[in-house]
Amino acid sequence: MKSWKKTSLLTTLIILVLLSSVYYIFNMSVSVPSSDIEFSPGQVEGKLNGVYEGQKPKNIIVFIADGMGFSHLSLALQTQQTENTPSVWQAFDVKGWHDPRSLIGPLTDSEASATAMATGVSTNFGHIGMSNEGETLENIFEMAWAMNYATGIVTDSYVWDGTPAAFTVHTRNEDDARDILTQLANSDLDLLFGELEDVGEDEVPEVEETIAILEKRFQLLDASLKLPTGDAATSPVAVLFEEDEIQDLDSEPNLPELTETALEYLTNQGKAFLLLVECEEMDSASHTNNTDRVVKGLQSLQKTLAMLQEFVEKNGETLLIFTSDHETGGLATLSDYNNYPNMQVRWSTNEHSAAVVPLFAKGPGAHCFADVHRNWQIGDCLIELISQNTPGL
Ligand SMILES: [Zn+2]
Repeated sequence: MKSWKKTSLLTTLIILVLLSSVYYIFNMSVSVPSSDIEFSPGQVEGKLNGVYEGQKPKNIIVFIADGMGFSHLSLALQTQQTENTPSVWQAFDVKGWHDPRSLIGPLTDSEASATAMATGVSTNFGHIGMSNEGETLENIFEMAWAMNYATGIVTDSYVWDGTPAAFTVHTRNEDDARDILTQLANSDLDLLFGELEDVGEDEVPEVEETIAILEKRFQLLDASLKLPTGDAATSPVAVLFEEDEIQDLDSEPNLPELTETALEYLTNQGKAFLLLVECEEMDSASHTNNTDRVVKGLQSLQKTLAMLQEFVEKNGETLLIFTSDHETGGLATLSDYNNYPNMQVRWSTNEHSAAVVPLFAKGPGAHCFADVHRNWQIGDCLIELISQNTPGL
């Protein structure tokens, strides 16, 4: 072989090695241990029994914005807050984050993450109120029922959706709507507002059957949301909407109105209450990378939060926590110098990302959520706060 050929071969080899190193550096995957963070429950006890003694909430409102990450929050702040408008995000007493990963790795689905928040136990995809080993996990609604709380669920998604279901029922089949609805009807839940979806498909019963199942427990109200009065004021109530009927602020009624009615019903019961509000809009819109719909979802979210914060301030005995079960879309908010200061939005996936998500709290007990690292620790805090409550039985 001629020497110039040898040199050329050597140069090619060196370039190939260099290129593959660069490729490796920019594309290397990071190995993520699934449950590497030790957490001592004593830390939670210490906070409740020490600095924050006497600040236990009577009532708890858990607000979950499905699929919302910090970039969604940035989008809300950049597009919907002017200098003179107070931000609902800043009005929380505690502003932090949690890592929503599932038991098996960096990603999660709504069912696993909501189960962790409802039970204090990290679990696997598709597990609703169940451990990875298939055990039934006690959730905070079951604890609240045992202590005679009034309880409610408001969702802009379908009533058997995995996120609220993880707080109330137990199944490893998220698609079995009939089973989830039956478990809800057999529970002690007092209020259920939400939509229907995929009616009559696969394991989703027809409207008539859905109503028949829910009527075993709930009095079905119409969309006017007129609550029963007199002796009937304490009977469990539900309202069913069609798919996407309560999607954003243009809907009638919309999420803030439904949540306000739920608060009215629950406070009328005259005892401690636990309310779960789910805004699912962010997840659906982010799965399709639909920025306009995300922006509308953020408006609905902020209006609902503003109303809830006002309630918390006036009531003085209520804890409001706001969080998300995971981020969807790998959203990035940018601004191009050629087009400054216009905002740009880029999506990196149609799926869930492994990003950490916001965790904010306001009211008595809020500081329990300041040191949370993982989603299941939210469950630990909620269990601690509910178990130490004396709701005046
Ligand atoms: Zn999702």
